[in-house]
Amino acid sequence: MSETASRMKQAIAVVGAGWAGCAAAVELARAGHQVTLYESSRTLGGRARAVEMQGKMLDNGQHILLGAYAESLRLFKIVGIDINKALLRLPLQMRYPTGCDGMDFVAPRLPAPLHLAAALLRTKGLSGSDKMALARFSSAARWMDWQLNTDCSVSELLHRFDQTERLIKLMWQPLCIAALNTPPERASAQIFLNVLRDSLGARRAASDMLIPRVDLTTLFPQQAASLVTQHGGTIKTGAMVQKIVACKGKWSVMLDNTEDAMYDAVVIATPATQTAILLADVTMDAAIPAFEYEAITTCYLQYPANTHLALPFYALTDDADSGCWGQFVFDRGQLDRTQSGLFAVVVSTSTSAIELGHEALSAAIATQLAHALQMPALAHPEWSRIISEKRATFSCTPALQRPEEKTEFPHLVIAGDYLASDYPATLESAVHSGVKAASLLCQHFTPAK
Ligand SMILES: Cc1cc2nc3c(=O)[nH]c(=O)nc-3n(C[C@H](O)[C@H](O)[C@H](O)COP(=O)(O)OP(=O)(O)OC[C@H]3O[C@@H](n4cnc5c(N)ncnc54)[C@H](O)[C@@H]3O)c2cc1C
Repeated sequence: MSETASRMKQAIAVVGAGWAGCAAAVELARAGHQVTLYESSRTLGGRARAVEMQGKMLDNGQHILLGAYAESLRLFKIVGIDINKALLRLPLQMRYPTGCDGMDFVAPRLPAPLHLAAALLRTKGLSGSDKMALARFSSAARWMDWQLNTDCSVSELLHRFDQTERLIKLMWQPLCIAALNTPPERASAQIFLNVLRDSLGARRAASDMLIPRVDLTTLFPQQAASLVTQHGGTIKTGAMVQKIVACKGKWSVMLDNTEDAMYDAVVIATPATQTAILLADVTMDAAIPAFEYEAITTCYLQYPANTHLALPFYALTDDADSGCWGQFVFDRGQLDRTQSGLFAVVVSTSTSAIELGHEALSAAIATQLAHALQMPALAHPEWSRIISEKRATFSCTPALQRPEEKTEFPHLVIAGDYLASDYPATLESAVHSGVKAASLLCQHFTPAK
């Protein structure tokens, strides 16, 4: 290694192996730095990780990615993921089971914006005035370049654009809850428009929906960790960082009240609350806001292996008053044959649903599936299991102030889905932030020419 190269190679600690930390670690290792990735849990992936259940590797929550997740897809390629094998690619869609007074919207494989126009023409379950309202919304949003002068709630935006009750119920509300994990009355219209710009308003491939066929730890964090170790880095799981201490221009990372090692730079890629605690030890100026959080619950239900749905996933009409909590149902057998007969039902913004208790909630969801899909046997799964992530994402409210990756110290940066971004808390905002944090450190350590 040349003298310049060895001078530039820095020891860097990345704290937290969620998708943000993994992305930062990959970029730093590729830039030639000596990376140590600390993760408090035994499993990599944070809020998007594998969970073993009844002998199967499932996820802590069913996830969907979009074709517009450019940074995630770029890193997938870098770490060697075969995207066509690892993800099921489907056109943008909102399809309800037949016979449940829903709608059937699928964007055909045509260039944008034709795909949307054609989808509207073919959509079943919407009246002419619903379709007109949707077309009006889409052209007005394009005309505004998807930008609002002042942010407001999604409900207010929909009201301003004269959206029909049915369109709100079947399209906008489920999209808003799925994308922002915040109900339309409280969700940021600007962030919602950003997501729509990159889905409804984007080139067709960007609007595609990508569903992982493998568990979320295998999908990216595990591959990221392999790349880091191939570049001479170290992965430490079960390693909860308790303190980071500034020491003679370096950083000491403390585990169990003892110093583990000294580093030239640190990326703190833990959730916002933990980052605020770690930063409080090194600076009084850290401005990590106290976010509000929303829960997401996934209910797994196992049926006999020959139980299938006609589509890989359906939207469901939720109505808490009638005990219908499920918003989307996924037939996992269509993603991975070893999971035949296993369904995953997603309940976003699920704080009230959780109050029912696991047994009552899974029974209610099984009953809802039996009615909605007109398959009475679905009321009686072989087993069911609920996983609730109480702090799944921050509440994505209007004009929310989100901090930047840089701190007052050029060699201490932060990363995570809660940092300033066009997007709500998503895999893409986490990866994007990790890449940005790594790039800030790389710029700092590259000698000016
Ligand atoms: C149920 C559910 C469903 C979701 N669905 C979608 C979806 O469909 N599409 C989508 O794009 N996004 C979805 N999301 C959001 C997405 O999962 C998150 O935005 C993303 O995973 C956040 O990544 P992160 O790296 O910023 O944070 P985290 O994943 O929280 O990573 C932080 C990591 O730091 C570790 N850590 C904490 N403290 C310490 C410490 N002191 N020392 C060492 N390690 C520490 C944690 O264990 C964790 O691994 C969903 C989230 C959930 C929970």
